[in-house]
Order: sequence, then C-alpha cells, then structure tokens
Amino acid sequence: MREIIQVQAGQCGNQIGAKFWEVIADEHGVDGRGNYIGGDNVIQLERINVFFRESQHGRWVPRAVLMDLEPGTMDSVRAGPYGALFRPDNFVFGQSGAGNNWAKGHYTEGAELIEPVLDVVRRDAEACDCLQGFQITHSLGGGTGSGMGTLLIAKLREEYPDRMLETFSVFPSPKVSDTVVEPYNATLSVHQLVENADFVHAIDNEALYDICFRTLKLTTPTYGDLNHLVSAAMSGVTCCLRFPGQLNSDLRKLAVNLIPFPRLHFFMIGFAPLTSRGSQPYRSLTVSELSQQSFDAKNMMCACDPRHGRYLTASVVFRGRLSTKDVDHEMCKIQNRMDSSFVDWIPCNIKTAICDVPPKGLKMSSTFLGNSTAIHEVFGRVANQFVVMFRRKAFLFWYVGEGMDELEFTEAESNMNDLIAEYQQYQDAAPELEEDTE
Ligand code: GDP
Repeated sequence: MREIIQVQAGQCGNQIGAKFWEVIADEHGVDGRGNYIGGDNVIQLERINVFFRESQHGRWVPRAVLMDLEPGTMDSVRAGPYGALFRPDNFVFGQSGAGNNWAKGHYTEGAELIEPVLDVVRRDAEACDCLQGFQITHSLGGGTGSGMGTLLIAKLREEYPDRMLETFSVFPSPKVSDTVVEPYNATLSVHQLVENADFVHAIDNEALYDICFRTLKLTTPTYGDLNHLVSAAMSGVTCCLRFPGQLNSDLRKLAVNLIPFPRLHFFMIGFAPLTSRGSQPYRSLTVSELSQQSFDAKNMMCACDPRHGRYLTASVVFRGRLSTKDVDHEMCKIQNRMDSSFVDWIPCNIKTAICDVPPKGLKMSSTFLGNSTAIHEVFGRVANQFVVMFRRKAFLFWYVGEGMDELEFTEAESNMNDLIAEYQQYQDAAPELEEDTE
C-alpha cells in the first residue's frame, strides 16, 4: 500500500480538511465513528488504506494530523458529526493564535509547536507500509496555515526528501476576507511553495466566491458554500489515488504527467457539473456536457481565464459508469476545437481517466486538473496588492517585531515575479521556439 498522510493547518486548512474527510469517508462506506457500513464493496475497500488506517478494533481512522495555534476550529471539528473519526491525539494545538501574521506562524509561535506536530507525523509515518507522501491543506492568507503550514512543509522536505509533498492551498481574495495583510502572507507562502512543495492545487477564494454567486446563484456565499466546492474538487482529484485504476494512481505519476518544469507546479482545478439548485431539474447530464464544463473558465477554481494562456498539460477524471468510447470521442472533439490552447511542444498533453464510483448524490461528474500558464494572473493579482503596501512599508512592523528581516519580503516578491515571468515566457514563446528549430 502507498499511504498518504494529510496535515491540516489553521482555520481554513482544518475546515476544508474536515469536509474532505467527511466526503471521502462516505465514498468509502465509513460512518462518522469509523465503522465500515458499506457491505463488503470491493471497490470501496481495495485502496482505502491509502487515506485510512485500520485500528485494532476494526475502525477506519483517517491518516490526518490536525494542527492550529488556537483551539477554536478543532473544537468545532471534534464536536461535528465526524469528530469521533479522528484519533484524539492527532489534534495538536496551541492557545496563542497567529493573528493573521505569517511571522508568528513561521518563526515564533508556530516554531514552538512544530516539534509536537512532527512527533505525531513521525508516529503515523512509521506505522505506514510504504508512505508515498503528504498532503497539506491550508490557506495562504492567514498566519497559521500559511506561516506554520509552510514551516511544516520545509521540515517535511528536510526529513522526508524522497516522499511527495502536495498541497491544497487557498489563495486569499478581498471578496471573501477583509484582512489587509493577506497579500503579504500569501506572497511569503508562495515563495516557500515554489521551493519546497512538489505540487500545489491552487484554490482561489475569489473564484469560489464567483462560482457560488454567478453559477450557483447564492447571494451571500458562506465558507460552508465555498468549502462544499473545495471538497468536491478534493474528492475528485484524489479519486484516482483512492480507487482502483491506472492513470495518476500515485502522487509521483501525477507529478510526472503534469509538471514539465520543476517550478511550474501550480495546478488549477475545474469541477463539473456545477448547476444552481433551481436549474437542476432542467439539467441533462451527459459526457459531452461534462467535458465542455470541465474546460470552461467559469468552472475553474482559480480566478484566471485559461483562454488568456496555454495549457502545458492537463488531466481529466470522469466519475460514474460511463463508456470509454463516449469519453474518448468527447475529449478528442475538445482537443481539436481547443488545439491552440495547448502548447504544441508536449504531445498528448491531456490525460483522461474514468473512475467507476461517482460522488455521492450524482450519477456522474468530472474533475479537471490543468497546468495552465494563465495561472500567472492569480499570482499577478496578489503581487499587485503586495506592492502597493510594501512600497510604503505599511504593516511591516508586525513582521519585523517577530524578528523577520525586510529582505525576506523582497526575496519573496522577486521569486513570485520570476514565477509570473516564467509562465509568461512559456505562454508567449511557443511560436518563436518553433521557428528556431526549423
Ligand atoms: P489561520 O488559522 O491563521 O491559518 O488563518 P485562516 O485559515 O483563517 O486564514 C485566513 C484566510 O483563509 C482568508 O483568506 C480567509 O478568507 C480564508 N479562509 C478562512 N476559513 C476558510 C474556509 O473555511 N474556507 C475557505 N475557502 N477559506 C477560508
């Protein structure tokens, strides 16, 4: 078995993490107390060990470590319907909070709590047969998930250099949160993620908000609404790891398929179907509809338009009892129609898979994972918000007060700007490269 350990950090990380466990427990036939109630369904059980460990009492326990610098969010996870699922000593928390300050998470308060977290991780890692890697859920805009989350990533990279490290990272948006220093925290985090994570699923609150508001017609979206989308996406992108199949069946294969250059490892996720409750009775769900929605800018959980860039690589997972022929036919149509949206120097850069098990409540669905150069628009948005404050050194004393050097801000800013430029280079340079080789 190739096990994955999830670490969820901070308020957002724990909220989306808890929702993820709820959804996948259900898909694998596990109830809120860890009992298997699926009735010996081979498909549910064959690879359940990737994310769950079986206890001596026959309970399925998530391989999850929950960390936070304040107890509030964890208390509510514990009190929730799936609270009893988690091993109680895998909750590691402090009392001080990080006050939306990356420096507190990374250098002071978080640094004090990191050893107890690593102890729990080590214990769980030692219990694995052959650990394939770690999955981190966190936000980039706050203090704990971003500062302490990236500290954890650096430590894991050091201690487990040959294991895969992927993250589900929530990018901040002023539409959802009003904390002014979020662009600082996000930029400092991206600097770390470029260097230390194998790949990042970029989840952008701006896009989640827009999907809720425009497509799902929710007038005042809550975190619960946003997290519903996140958990659907997380369940979709992990389904190849959790259920039997060939494509992207482990984290390394997924990385090899999707990452042509090591720094360009930030993926956008699209999910289909997305339909407002009022329109659901009128919806006819077909492979064709799913395929089209999967590639639609409106379905992307990143606020950037893939039509402004090009896909380096992409992968689509269809779920449900679908015919391979239909799927191949539809994907072929899309590939022909969108030919210019894909770089032509990577042949066969869309991979497709079918997983028989649909998500709960749907007959079929699809999840799209794209490595698009257009993602630089998300980094650009954060960079623009960063620079207006940093130019005047606004709010910097909060960070310097925790012992941080201003230079780290400058380095983080330029690393993110380099990343933007690298994406732009592959977006723009394709035709010229062709000429050179002729
Ligand atoms: P931390 O506990 O210090 O890591 O701070 P938070 O996780 O609260 O970080 C704040 C950022 O996360 C802001 O950009 C919020 O909009 C976002 N955020 C907080 N909770 C959630 C959540 O449950 N879902 C989503 N999608 N975003 C959240």
